[in-house]
Amino acid sequence: MIAFTPSDGSAGAVEGAGAFFERATARDVLAWLRLLSDPTDSAAIVRALGRPPIEMRQVDIARVVQVARKAKLDMLAALGPATEAPQMPPEARERIERFQALHGEAQVAFEALRPRLGCSPQELAAELTIASEARLLGGETFSGPRAQTLEATVELMREEVLGGATRIAGRLGELRLDTDLDISHGVVRSLELVKLAALKERPPGQSVAEALDDINQRLLAACTPLQREIFQTSTLDETLLGAERGEPEDGSRPALAPAARGAFARREEPSLQAFLPRRGDGLVLSASDIDTYRACPLRYKFARVLKIPSPQTLHQRFGIAVHQVLERYHASEHTTVQQMMELFEGCWRRGGFGESDVERELHSKARAALVLYHRHLEAHEAEPVWFERSFSFKLGPHHLRGRVDRVDKLPDGAYELIDYKTGRPRTAEQLKDDVQLSLYAVGARESWEVEAERLSYYYILDDLKVPVPSAEMDTDWIARVVAEVGEAIMEQRFEPTPSPAACGLCDFRIACPAWER
Ligand code: SF4
Repeated sequence: MIAFTPSDGSAGAVEGAGAFFERATARDVLAWLRLLSDPTDSAAIVRALGRPPIEMRQVDIARVVQVARKAKLDMLAALGPATEAPQMPPEARERIERFQALHGEAQVAFEALRPRLGCSPQELAAELTIASEARLLGGETFSGPRAQTLEATVELMREEVLGGATRIAGRLGELRLDTDLDISHGVVRSLELVKLAALKERPPGQSVAEALDDINQRLLAACTPLQREIFQTSTLDETLLGAERGEPEDGSRPALAPAARGAFARREEPSLQAFLPRRGDGLVLSASDIDTYRACPLRYKFARVLKIPSPQTLHQRFGIAVHQVLERYHASEHTTVQQMMELFEGCWRRGGFGESDVERELHSKARAALVLYHRHLEAHEAEPVWFERSFSFKLGPHHLRGRVDRVDKLPDGAYELIDYKTGRPRTAEQLKDDVQLSLYAVGARESWEVEAERLSYYYILDDLKVPVPSAEMDTDWIARVVAEVGEAIMEQRFEPTPSPAACGLCDFRIACPAWER
């Protein structure tokens, strides 16, 4: 792997490394390297937990994240308490213990390697991460899903059973109390392989549902009570029947493999229902949730369902600091630019910024921008009437919530909703499909009974206010978007939709299967 490290550190020099790192196994090694060099790298830990040889289910990873958040620990430190959490099933505990043992061994090996690296482990991990991401962030395309058939499904299940058999065999010699559970899972997998083979051979004209009844009866007759329970709680039948409901009208047999493959995934990754942000019959959603889901459903799952912690970037911390200055300035009796600067210096100190060139540049940019903000405020004809005002309302079954940075009352009595931004300005054309301010406009109407005439983004660093085209203030459109996104999340549709734009901003690239061959 080290042979692929770019000699000059540039992403463009590592075409071969980029291809190499599309291999799942290479990305597994990179994830281990990253977590060993940075124990707070949650995305790398998620990958290492979810991939061989640990293969923890996503639902159990979500439970680990829950423990980490509750105990305010990083994920690595939370693994110990997680093994004692009542919600953690025995199988997951055993996998965590295996991870911890492997982690200990890898740490020793890593320390031994340290003198030969020629750079710090952090530098090595950072360089290899750049190498691994160079091709895809450069805009290369991703391969589409493979066409699959029932035959291919049987093949997949066969691999699954053989892989499972090897894993179970490897654990038989260990002193464990739940060996019978492992063996029963292995037996049920084998029975499901028989089930799929029997379905493949079912008489022409017989439906999957009819065939399943009979096959299940026969297989269940051969099960122990524990195996029966595992067999009956499998989601395989449900998925096979779902696929049959989508059978083409010409009567041909459905291609069941994609659905069954989904069932395998769900067995490794059972329903995440308990982790969805539910309230009543719907979800709790914000504009940022909707934007995240629309950019990439898998990213939404990582960030909002599994809630994998990701460290704030420098620019995120900077944005928070500028928002805090403006919020505090407007909430106080302050009126002078001096007072605004004092607030800024306080927020800057508390934000933990350092003395790097980038940080110094941001500091002076912010000061200059705040002076201009203050000047415009004084010359402003409109009257700012609310700051950081929250809204929440119901749209269909879903609960929408958000907070508007500033609301101005215009000279003609109309209202303008303003959202501060500290990033690069987007043009009115680029804002045509904008969800955030359109949702805010509906929120203002539903929650405060305020009809907003204008919606604008205020790019603070550029001293630029960009109005969202009024044609975008379309309640029906936003209701449709919320309904579509809400339904997809409720159905747990979290397929990745990779693109350089979405992936370039994503904190979960190391955990993402869309980057693999
Ligand atoms: S890396 Fe790209 S495809 Fe994967 S989750 Fe992130 S945005 Fe989605």
